[in-house]
Formats: sequence, structure tokens, C-alpha cells
Amino acid sequence: MPDESIPHRTTMLLKGGRVLMPEADWNDPPQADIAIAGDRIVGIGSEYRLGDIRNVEIIDAGNHLVLPGFVNAHYHSHDVLAKGTLEEVPLETWRLYALPPQYPPRSAEEVYARTLLGALECLRSGITTIQDMLTLYPYEERNMDAVMKAYGEVGIRVVFALQYADRKGIETIPFWKDTFPTELHPLLSTAAEPERDLDLIGHFEATRLKSPPPPRVSWALGPSAPERCSPELMQRTMDLARRHDIPVYTHIYESRGMALQARLSLPQYSGLLIRRLAEEGVLDQRLNFAHSVWLSRQEIDLLAEHAAGVVLNPQGNLKMKCGIAPIRTLQDAGVRIGLGCDNCSCSDAQNMFVAMKLFTLLAAVSNPIPGPQQAVAALRAATEAGAEGARLGNVVGRIAPGFKADLTPIDMRDPTFSPMNSAARQLVHIEAGRGVRHVIVEGKVVVRDRQLTTVNESTIYDAVKTVMPGFRRDFATISQRVAKLQPWLDRAHRRIMAAELDIERLPFGSG
Ligand SMILES: [Zn+2]
Repeated sequence: MPDESIPHRTTMLLKGGRVLMPEADWNDPPQADIAIAGDRIVGIGSEYRLGDIRNVEIIDAGNHLVLPGFVNAHYHSHDVLAKGTLEEVPLETWRLYALPPQYPPRSAEEVYARTLLGALECLRSGITTIQDMLTLYPYEERNMDAVMKAYGEVGIRVVFALQYADRKGIETIPFWKDTFPTELHPLLSTAAEPERDLDLIGHFEATRLKSPPPPRVSWALGPSAPERCSPELMQRTMDLARRHDIPVYTHIYESRGMALQARLSLPQYSGLLIRRLAEEGVLDQRLNFAHSVWLSRQEIDLLAEHAAGVVLNPQGNLKMKCGIAPIRTLQDAGVRIGLGCDNCSCSDAQNMFVAMKLFTLLAAVSNPIPGPQQAVAALRAATEAGAEGARLGNVVGRIAPGFKADLTPIDMRDPTFSPMNSAARQLVHIEAGRGVRHVIVEGKVVVRDRQLTTVNESTIYDAVKTVMPGFRRDFATISQRVAKLQPWLDRAHRRIMAAELDIERLPFGSG
């Protein structure tokens, strides 16, 4: 990169950082200046000369690593207020806490406060894009408006999907129907299930999809899980996704029970959900499968063949006693791998540094034979791959001219980076978010010196404090209800764990 004059239309210059450009060695990234005009990167030079250009905001990035903003590719803003409420719980039990349909309707104030708080946590840990797969139950337009208002004000980029399904949970979990007494069955549904009077996907298309999204928002679709969606609903989803060229996010095989259910209910597809989707003609590059812990080898090959991707969420998978995704097998097959932080009640941190570290550690135990270096792979999963899955691969996730200026400068004046032996490995194995100093989204500094610039942080904490008494009261009621179900939940869980399954996901298990 020769010394050169700064591009004429430059409005912001990030000067002297060590920049993780796509082709650079991320263990030893080069020093470079990044020129931004409005919302985009317009040039990267070794040492730009300002010449007679005026009105350029200069951000001193000396002693900083400059990363592409992280893409948190799996997140749900509906339970932000439930962070820290639960210890380890099996996934099937946890869903009754996280998505209870018996909650009284939430106020727009609560929805607004939780959306802001979740976005604040993400931004403060260097996340510039979130994929929010939101359950609004019962669906109310005013709550949807509150979500969009919060995101508009806070300034984060959002790939937004509503979560929906048309099959009841009790019908999709092994042994639940015959373990629980019939009178308890109505307590076993969750909010990601059919709404009685509303065709949610049709409503979303009519009210939102047909008009341009708000700034920094792009639309996506969120069928909850293939087993919770009929073939007709999956077909409708993919028709819509293809017509509008938008991504689709769904959950698959998070728990052993989900794989077992597929084996029991899909004999015509050899018990494989991915094969069902492939044969229904709905499997393509627009699909992102959150979790993918219990994929079989045949299904991994099908994902690669159809260019569909996965989004791994190691924090929640461990806490919900789910298992370890076959990371190395997915990598060897060439499947796109994004990373997410999932719900606040199961993960609980919205922190991609934690997700990246677990990714590398679990890659190590997912295969006993030493494999490729994983720190750079984790960083690319947390940036480029998440962007590609969102169909924003030419827009964000990389630091290159033409891309949106979504950037996270990390302060290296910290024990984390002294001595500097490898930027990639120290970012993944040592950094935990303390170094995130500024965050830039679409050319705007939304976090400066570790403080949100768009919304007063104190007003967010105050808004949360105001709504918490109501949330706590309702969460306590839900907890009491789940406690009553505990003996049967335990019995069903033991039956799931004891049943035979053709793969295991323990460290060094098959797959
Ligand atoms: Zn999820």
C-alpha cells in the first residue's frame, strides 16, 4: 500500500490501527488507515495524506486492532430481562421458562426497554449486527413498533425475523404425550407455536415485507424448527424467501431429544430432518440452522451440497445440557459456519469473544486428532460467515472498500495484548470484551470510549428498572408452574437420554 492522498469524499479517517483485512495475516495484521465516506469504507491506505481535504473526523486507532464488527447470527431479544435467572436445565424444560405462552401480554414499555438493553450489551462487546429471531406472543403491532423504534434509536444493524410455527411442542418432543397426565398437556405448549387467530407470516408479509425496512434493518424469516412447521409452512416460508431474496433462520437438533424425535417420526426420510427438507425442495443457501449439534454425517453432506449454513451457539448448548456440535466435520465438509449467542436466559452473555473461545475449545474436543488452527476460523465465523448467512456478505463482515463501515477498534494497551504474539489467538483466547473501546456502525460512532452515544445509557437502565417488578412477578408465576411439572419433566428427560440413538455428541463421540 503506497502513501497516497485520501479519497476526496472522505468524512472519517481511522488512523494507524492494525487492521484485520480479508487477505491479511490475522496473527500479525498490518498497520493501515481506513477512509470512510458517509456509511461506507472508501479506501484503505498505508498512510493517507489529508492534503486540502477538510471536515474529516479523525479517530486515532494507533495501538488498536481494528476488527470488522461482529455478526451475532443467533439471538432472541424476547428474554433479555431473564438473564441470570436459570442454572443448567435440559433444553426441553428451559423452553417452558423462555417462551411461556401463559405470560400476560407484555407492555410496549417493557418490549422497548428490553430491546434497547439487549442491543446495548451487544454493541458494548463489539457486535454491530444482530440476527434477532423474535417471538412476540400474542402478536401486537404496538410491540413490533416498539422493537423497531428501539433499534432505530440505538443504531445497531439488525437482521430481523419473527419466530413462528404451526405444530404444538408437545407433539414434537419424544415421550411427552405419554409421560404427562392429559390434564397437564395445556401447560406444555410454548409461545413459538400457532397463534389462534393470526396468520403471522401472512401478516408480516402484508405489513412489513412489502415495504422497505427501516434504516440498518433487513428482513428475514424465522420458522421455529422444521419439526414444529408443517411441510406446507416450510414451503410457504421458502417461496417467500426466494421471492424477496431474504435469509431464513431456524433451529435444528439442539438437543438429543430433537434428533430422537426425527428418528421416531420420519421413517420415510431415514429419520433425518435435513433429508426431509432436501426432498421437499426447500433446502438452499438462504437457510441457516441454529445449533446443529446432532446432525448426522449424511445431513452434513446435504447441507454442503445445498450450500445451506449453520449457526453454532456453544454457550447455550453447554448450559442446556445439549452436547457439542461436530465442528471439525462441518469444517471438513465445507459448510458455512456462523456464530451466535442465543437467548439471554440460556447463554447468558451476548459476547462473541466467549462464543469464539468456546468454538475453538469445542473444536478441539469434537475430534481427538489434532486439526487446523482455529483462532482465525473463529474470527471469520464471527464476522464474514455470519454476514454471508444473512445475505449481507457483500455489505458487512469484512474491512474492504465498498463495504459498510461497521468496525470495532480494540484497545491494545491492556495485559491481554502484551506481549503481542498473535492478534488472532489473543483476541480469541484472552480478550473478553474489555478492550472494545469504540464501535462504528454504518460510519457512525455509536460507542465512543465505551459509552453509547445514541441513547443515554442511564435512561436504558432506568427504563429496565421501571418494568422489572411486573416482569419478576410474571416470571415467578411461570417458575412455579414449571416446578409443578418437574417430576414428569425429569421422567421424560431420562427416557430421552436412555433411548438408543445412532450418533453421540460427547467429547470424542462418533460424528
Ligand atoms: Zn434460538
